Amino acid sequence: MTETVDWRLPMPPGFRWPDGVRAAACFTFDVDAESPILYEYPESAAWLDVMTHQAYGARTGIARILRVLDRRRIRSTFFIPGYSAERWPAICRSIRDAGHEIAHHGYLHEGAHGATPAVEEARLLRGLASLDEILGVRPSGYRGPTWELTYETPAILARHGFVYDSGLMDADHPYVLATSAEQGASTLIELPGHWSLDDWESYNYLPGITGSGVISSPADILARWTLELDALAEEGGLFMLTNHPFVSGRASRAVALERLIERAQAIDGLWVATAAEIAAYVATLGLEPVVHRRPVLPD
Ligand SMILES: [Zn+2]
Repeated sequence: MTETVDWRLPMPPGFRWPDGVRAAACFTFDVDAESPILYEYPESAAWLDVMTHQAYGARTGIARILRVLDRRRIRSTFFIPGYSAERWPAICRSIRDAGHEIAHHGYLHEGAHGATPAVEEARLLRGLASLDEILGVRPSGYRGPTWELTYETPAILARHGFVYDSGLMDADHPYVLATSAEQGASTLIELPGHWSLDDWESYNYLPGITGSGVISSPADILARWTLELDALAEEGGLFMLTNHPFVSGRASRAVALERLIERAQAIDGLWVATAAEIAAYVATLGLEPVVHRRPVLPD
């Protein structure tokens, strides 16, 4: 083998942002509400305390976040499980009517690990049906609940007309994702994310269910996310932030989020856009698709 990698290149081969743009930022929201807890702990349907913790976004946090986005005059992407749309139709319609992008986030926030392709596809279709029925929306984007994808998920998404996925963790820049190793296989656009740019781990605590009980200060989270925003802007990457309205819709966290958005808007040449807008742009670049090869376990 003589193939090597040119490590001097700051961006992947062929990648460039539009003229006048040097990096991009996406502020996204996963409207999980009760769904991930109900999926993992069906018995929690009887626990009023836990259900209200999860309902905070729908009843309080989403409206606050919509006010922040309106003040900052940006459009965001909201990934909504079908079950959340069915349970909280009015606030989900308000998200849509405020001009934000609606994308797919499973039906009951089902993780894909261990699921057969047929089960994955059935969940995808059930989520699509809910978003259509409640919101009249056909999403072009998908984010796997709990970020989980199998090697089969991309092909299922492409078969149902999805344009992009957001949540794989192997890059700083969007890329073209091959749905299989076969020549001429269909492709998606991948908009990578990361746990460190997700609010769940830092802020969330439900005794016995999630979190350690150590809840980060919004000041610390703002500092951490600002470092990553500035570093990715320098590197020409994509800052993909994932917040949950029941988590970051709380008052001081929303203040920190607004300051972060202000900071992003003050960076010269930083494009703040929806996930769909970025995916549509990347699709025009004609990038070589990235093929993810499933590892073969050694004997
Ligand atoms: Zn989620």
